[in-house]
Amino acid sequence: MRPKSQRRLLFPSPSVLSGAEREPQVNDFESLSKKALGEGAFGEVYKVRHKISKELYAIKVVSKQKVVSANLLPQLRREIRIMYSLSHPHIVKLYNHFEDDNNFYLVLELAEGGTLWQRLARFKSFDEASAAQYIRELILALEYLHSRDPPIIHRDIKPENLLLDKEGRDGRIKVADFGWSNFFNAERTRMTYCGTLDYLAPEMINQQGHTTSLDLWNLGVLLFELLTGSAPFQAPTQAAMFEKILKVRVAFPKNFPPLAKDLISRLLRAIPDERLSLIEVMNHPWMQTHQPIRPTMTQTVQREALPCQLEAGDETSDIASEDPIKPFQETEYRVLSKINNPREEEKKLEVVPSPQNKSPSPVKQAKQQAPSNLENELKQTRDENKKFQEQIDDKEAELSRVNTRIQELENIVAKLDAEYEDKRKMEKSLKDQLAEKSNRNAELAELQEDESKLYTEYEGLRAKCLEKETELNLLKTEIENMEKLSKEKTQQASDLERDVDRVKSDIDQTKMKYNKSKSEIQEQFAKISGEIDELQRSLGNKDRDSSVVSVEALLAFTQENLDILKNRARVENELLKQYQDANERLIQLDNKYSEMRLAYENYLNELKKHSVNREAEFGNIKPANINSQGELESIKDRLRECIGKQYSNKLLNEELVHLQSLVNQYEKSLGLAKKQSQDLDYLRQVNQKKSSSQQYYKK
Ligand code: ATP
Ligand code: MG
Repeated sequence: MRPKSQRRLLFPSPSVLSGAEREPQVNDFESLSKKALGEGAFGEVYKVRHKISKELYAIKVVSKQKVVSANLLPQLRREIRIMYSLSHPHIVKLYNHFEDDNNFYLVLELAEGGTLWQRLARFKSFDEASAAQYIRELILALEYLHSRDPPIIHRDIKPENLLLDKEGRDGRIKVADFGWSNFFNAERTRMTYCGTLDYLAPEMINQQGHTTSLDLWNLGVLLFELLTGSAPFQAPTQAAMFEKILKVRVAFPKNFPPLAKDLISRLLRAIPDERLSLIEVMNHPWMQTHQPIRPTMTQTVQREALPCQLEAGDETSDIASEDPIKPFQETEYRVLSKINNPREEEKKLEVVPSPQNKSPSPVKQAKQQAPSNLENELKQTRDENKKFQEQIDDKEAELSRVNTRIQELENIVAKLDAEYEDKRKMEKSLKDQLAEKSNRNAELAELQEDESKLYTEYEGLRAKCLEKETELNLLKTEIENMEKLSKEKTQQASDLERDVDRVKSDIDQTKMKYNKSKSEIQEQFAKISGEIDELQRSLGNKDRDSSVVSVEALLAFTQENLDILKNRARVENELLKQYQDANERLIQLDNKYSEMRLAYENYLNELKKHSVNREAEFGNIKPANINSQGELESIKDRLRECIGKQYSNKLLNEELVHLQSLVNQYEKSLGLAKKQSQDLDYLRQVNQKKSSSQQYYKK
């Protein structure tokens, strides 16, 4: 019987309850280093070796006084009972427990690789494949915890609580420190607020209650920290930090892997129900891209009831011997002092007596007991045998179940191998595609460069084209002007032609009149000459009298007139000659004029044709085909030619003007001829007077 001060507060450990060993003590273990593996709010964790079995363990020492004063004893009992029932490759196993005056001692599976926090501190951050593997193993542990009935929420997922089973890259995740928050909640929250706030979820800040999705928020924070080496929410003050968390303002660094960013964004949701589930995380493309880097278990979780309720009831009992709600199974705990060779065990127990417990070992006790009642003993043994037989039957049934399970698992493994092979192939083809893409990209970049060069060339040609267009327009305007001018000239020429025709007909008429008057004059002249001759003859025969005198005077007068007439006829002949010369010259000019006109029309037609050709040519101009300098020169030549031809038109015009002056001259001579014809009319009148006087004289 323990003294009052040593009253037991926890139930005896399963191995003690089963009678397999006496209650373990601190002295059964040797500490392997003075320094604790880690420290917590309620105690420390040490690396130890069990003196008898030589097995290594981590012992978590929890202060009795702290637990009792926090009124957490009933919850601790419940929690320890639940921890025994948990058995998962990625969860630190609780093997045994004991207590002394000051502390509770939890004998835990030792995680040799230390914490993920220590590893992260060493490497600053992890590559994506390693981070994905840690997350994968953590998900397996959380799936197991969440599938308990009621579900166990870890509540404190962070690198310090994630242990590694061995050192180096191959260390697998072992979740530690889970479930404590179920009853250490108030204290833990206070502690957390004093320490880091990095993993605090919005629902914890709002104190609005939480579900298993709290662990998914922490999973998101953890993934961010594993990839970057720092927490996603950082602020100088607690208030600013709370605001950042509540508004989920995550500062992703530049070049953060997009798929990982997507996964984190789907986990860090202020509304818990909006967060991905564990299965969805496992199936997320980022997780699928980073396949397991070491053999990883597959699991189909089954909902299993816990041996007792998680939540604290109104129970206030602190009776140490309080029975756990469900009896322990052998798989749930470990007999610490059990070794493979029972003789050895016996020897060791005799050689190394516990310094604290001076009572003889259980084996010695058994030896000291003399058989008092053999029958009773036999009965007891038979009962025990029966029990053992039952246990053997159970074990065999379990073995066959396990064999079936192994078969199932082998099938799954084969399927996974096939899937793995497929994925590898897919990865290879994706890599090939990526290489192809980068080649294409390089080609594209070259093409883009070419394109920009071509564009510059095209711009240059376009500018030249515009220049040409302007030149062509100028040329067109010039041609139009010339056409207008030529029309005017044609009009002038036809007017001139008409004038010339008119003058010609005038000349012809005058000529006819002149010829007529000339023949008349000659006739008259002959007649007058005859008369004169006759008069002279008759005068020779007659006496000279007064009438003779008057006839003589008349004769003299007529003679005089005749001379004038002769004179006139001579002048007229000269004029006629001049007129004939001029007429000849006119005919020559007329011919020359028609020749020039023909040439001018031909030239005009050519010009028009050329203009049409040029327009067509311009329509066909393509930027790439312009031989700019040569083309420009030829256009300039053509322009010069046109200007030259315009000059020749000027000559033609001068020729026309000259012709006009000649016509004027003819018109003048025509006026002279008219005057002569008037003179002739006067002579006729005189002649008439003369004949009338002759008639009178005859009478
Ligand atoms: P609480 O304050 O709730 O008791 P805690 O954080 O102090 O929790 P744990 O997290 O369980 O307690 O342990 C504290 C530290 O001890 C861990 O961060 C780790 O370094 C170390 N540790 C805990 N358990 C083990 C173990 N099984 N193997 C190796 N080291 C361990
Ligand atoms: Mg911890």
